[in-house]
Amino acid sequence: MSAIVFPPPASADKQVYVTISALEGGHLTLPERLFVTDADPNVKRTVPSLSFLIQHPSTPPHGGGSNTKIIFDLGIKRDLNKYMPAMQTHIANRQPVITSPDVADSLRAGGLDPAKDIDYVIMSHVHWDHVGTPADFERATFVVGHGTLHLLENGAPPHYPKEIFDPQLLPRDRVWEFRESPIPEVVFGPADEYVGQNAASFQGRVWRELQTAAGETIFPAVIDLFDDGSIYLIDSPGHLFGHMNFLARVGSAKWIYLGGDCCHDARILTGEKGIALYDDGTGTGRLRSVHVDTDVARSTLNRIQTLLPEKKGQGTALRRTSGTIALGGDTPVEIELIVAHDGSWREKNQHRFFPGTI
Ligand SMILES: [Zn+2]
Repeated sequence: MSAIVFPPPASADKQVYVTISALEGGHLTLPERLFVTDADPNVKRTVPSLSFLIQHPSTPPHGGGSNTKIIFDLGIKRDLNKYMPAMQTHIANRQPVITSPDVADSLRAGGLDPAKDIDYVIMSHVHWDHVGTPADFERATFVVGHGTLHLLENGAPPHYPKEIFDPQLLPRDRVWEFRESPIPEVVFGPADEYVGQNAASFQGRVWRELQTAAGETIFPAVIDLFDDGSIYLIDSPGHLFGHMNFLARVGSAKWIYLGGDCCHDARILTGEKGIALYDDGTGTGRLRSVHVDTDVARSTLNRIQTLLPEKKGQGTALRRTSGTIALGGDTPVEIELIVAHDGSWREKNQHRFFPGTI
């Protein structure tokens, strides 16, 4: 299987772009000490759980219209009582939690009907603050990363017990779960229980490597979702089993990278902060982080950082979360990175929320 060159050379350029809009998906409150190094132990921040609408210029699977409509992440459920009881106990530690407007409200505000108009819902992962209310999306196919369905049924103890997940979260007849990527991830549970589920949907979509023109690996496993170079789903292991990121082309040399929970604070990607470690509560003195495998999460962050331009004149390796970067090839590329819980991005970019565009 040939690698995909990023950015695409002009000669091979199919020039398919998508339109992206931010959506409100509620807010939750995070104690900084669990997320970033050198945090004030008393600081808590109420942050958004951002979702996104992506419109791709193709006939949707149910026909009608000229755009296929995709949601990336569903934010927080508008009714917190719909979470499993054990999950509600955890959520009590994340108050204040704001549930309105949710993703369905945000879509309606821009003139879309979540029940009829949304074709695909891609979940970066199935932590409570990303799964929203799937029942609102009556026609959508749900797209999840490898291991997600196993996780929903069995949990991943000790830190993610079975009781916090809802095995009925996703309609099984409308789920695509990607096959295991070539990246060695944490060994977890019986392998490949769900491989082959809805297998027809996977035809022609295989993991490929994303490389620079010079042949350097950016990501070892991406899926070209529409086979036209407009959207790459990126295997982004470390945060939670099945964690995926999303890289989409919104202009001839402009791309948006949706980082999900690769980190919860963009200062980790710029290099200003590190991943916080804290006692794992098992009485063994071991440390954990908010990631299921901290080392793997760190190596995913390192890969993402190769897409971020360096800050000029700093003398250190600090980076910016948006700007133009030369990755080799014939055109520099402009990349903007957005992580799910970036409150300052939300504040500065109100005009880019649906029906506005990014
Ligand atoms: Zn998460």
